[in-house]
Amino acid sequence: MIPRSKTPISIINLGCPKNLVDSEEVLTYLSARGFVNEKNIINTRAILLNTCCFIDDAKEESIEKILQAVQIKKENPECLILVFGCMPVRYLEELKQAIPEVDQFFPGTNPEEIYRYLVKFLFHEQEQYFDELTSSVPSGRLWLENPYFAYLKVAEGCDYQCSFCVIPQIRGPYRSILPDKIVAEATGLLNRGVKELILVAQHTTAYGRDLNPQRSLVDLLQALESINGNFWIRILYAHPMEIKDSLLHYISKSKKICHYLDIPIQHSHEIILKNMKRKENSDELLNLFQKLLKKIPDIALRTSVLVGFPGETEKMFSHLIDFIQKIKFMHLGCFKFSAQAGTPAASMRGQVPVKIREQRAVKIITFQQKIIAGIQSRFVGSVHKVLVEEFLNEGPYNYAGRAVFQAPEIDGVVFIRGSNLKCGEFYSVKIEDFEQYDLFGTVIL
Ligand code: SF4
Repeated sequence: MIPRSKTPISIINLGCPKNLVDSEEVLTYLSARGFVNEKNIINTRAILLNTCCFIDDAKEESIEKILQAVQIKKENPECLILVFGCMPVRYLEELKQAIPEVDQFFPGTNPEEIYRYLVKFLFHEQEQYFDELTSSVPSGRLWLENPYFAYLKVAEGCDYQCSFCVIPQIRGPYRSILPDKIVAEATGLLNRGVKELILVAQHTTAYGRDLNPQRSLVDLLQALESINGNFWIRILYAHPMEIKDSLLHYISKSKKICHYLDIPIQHSHEIILKNMKRKENSDELLNLFQKLLKKIPDIALRTSVLVGFPGETEKMFSHLIDFIQKIKFMHLGCFKFSAQAGTPAASMRGQVPVKIREQRAVKIITFQQKIIAGIQSRFVGSVHKVLVEEFLNEGPYNYAGRAVFQAPEIDGVVFIRGSNLKCGEFYSVKIEDFEQYDLFGTVIL
């Protein structure tokens, strides 16, 4: 009865890179036990959806994908639908009632629970076989997407209580992952060809403060950087209140850490920040970015903002635009406020009409496009180290890759003209042109 080889299942990941890490952990666990990820969900024995409910758009996307899976099940009634991640944590009973076609909901992510369910309902096996089957776990996580970068989750949960956010309710308090475990995972990933480790957590900069003995993000970076090899380390989700001088100093001197920081600010106006229950005020934010740009002049900054928060007037919105103009973030994500049940912001007075939220989001994105056009134009003629990730097989720019100032999936790419390039290797590329978020250039040998 053991092993059962190559049983196709399809894992669909929704939401942020932290969810992707969870999905990849599920994939790794199941792959070690005879399951294989099947991209074509028509031919699969089970569809596993890792859901997100951070904002309304994310919820809608998750529901849409579950309903697509339900359609597949109509054609193939034997196919199991399993839904895990954030949505069942928040809406278990509602989901059970609304989508009874789903075979099982799993609040959170527990690969073993999912595995046990699959074995029980796909193979109708006895409980006693489970322990034998759970004996071999592969070293290093398998990935669902690009093989040349990997997200590395350094912590789970969040201790802040931003008034619009459901994450602390879903993910619990901040818990750092032990450094040895992170370094072992990083080593496994690098040994299998990953060239960029991307640190993620609800906020990475609090890393280690809950450990005993206490650690810091700098300690972790030192440990990761000491692993042999030519690779990048990128930091996402830094919290503005936790960016210490020691971290900036370390990044500025490091050979492997990208001069890139993602620091979600949400807003810049004093009153909005206060009502959001953010810890930082407007001046502190401004000082932080000015200091950062002074200490690491070539740093690429990314942020995300939330528009249409209750009580946001035109004047407050203009303050945010002015702030963005002052700092000139290279990359910016904009979310529209959506009231999440159970959060203080959902019942605040002064809810901004949906249409105005949408207009403000469009205005921010249009404004940011002008900023990035100015930044991109300055790259033309300069040479940058680029990680080549894909052969495109058409057009004069026949490869795609990323420079140090471009995170995967959220920023632009560099389209490269070259021949016989090896994906997963770094090349020097002279930038010739740009279009919106992307750059175009030729390899210099
Ligand atoms: S810092 Fe605020 S926005 Fe970020 S996860 Fe924690 S509560 Fe949510």
